[in-house]
Amino acid sequence: MRTKAALAVAIMAMATLGLAGQLVATTSILGDVVRRVAGEGWQVYALFPPEADPHAFQPTPREATLLARAEVVFICGAGLEAGLEPLLSLASRVMDVSQGIALRAFPDGRVDPHVWLNPLNVGVWAGNIAAALSEIDPERAANYQARAEAYRGELEDLDGWIHEEVGRVPAERRILVVDHLAFGYFADRYGFRQLAILPGFSTLAEPSARELAELEGEIQRLAIPAIFVSHTTVSPLVEQVARDTGVEVVRLYVGALSGPDGPAPDYLSLMRYDVAAIVAALGGG
Ligand SMILES: [Zn+2]
Repeated sequence: MRTKAALAVAIMAMATLGLAGQLVATTSILGDVVRRVAGEGWQVYALFPPEADPHAFQPTPREATLLARAEVVFICGAGLEAGLEPLLSLASRVMDVSQGIALRAFPDGRVDPHVWLNPLNVGVWAGNIAAALSEIDPERAANYQARAEAYRGELEDLDGWIHEEVGRVPAERRILVVDHLAFGYFADRYGFRQLAILPGFSTLAEPSARELAELEGEIQRLAIPAIFVSHTTVSPLVEQVARDTGVEVVRLYVGALSGPDGPAPDYLSLMRYDVAAIVAALGGG
């Protein structure tokens, strides 16, 4: 309690001095969306660095300090940050931005956390972020709502563009063989099937030899030209499947942005990069 009281005093002092308050988002992708909605007047920190696998994140004391100082900690939710519960208890306010999204389940019944690979779900994030900011800063509520609305327009344009692009890939070739089952929301929206090398929802699981052999058989039977692997996934099994089947390995940005000079420094460019790479690899004419 004493810490929280001290924190409240510090926040009031910062407000009096006109200093920017601090917001924290867990992933770099969510950090970008929070920045778009929050605008000037807030410093936004992403807990997971760019190029980091969100399933394998290990917090350090730096993250604990960031969390304790933040006015709101935004999490993707849907189970993505399940391993961070002790750390999140340091935060004074945590908001699950995926509230209101129709969550899909994996075949084993667990919730699929990769909601952001459908841009319309990111529109829900923007609305939730605007609502949280309006609550703590009611004077600028109209500003946050307007920013969220403008961003939702960009997301709808992106969605239209993706529909056009994937429309160039014949329906029978719309199969994503991926390192892990990250593309469920994308596949549902844009008419793809996905097959995963690593079972389960995370990059941390390992398939049996039989499962791997079945997948390789499927890749050959369906004449699949490429497998799609998250930029941050390091797995000898992915290399093995590529070697055994002779298919191309295409790296995508899935759970994290690139650095500022890379091809996916923000969410909109991440989706454009991935879709262009998928359509090119699957032979969109
Ligand atoms: Zn993932």
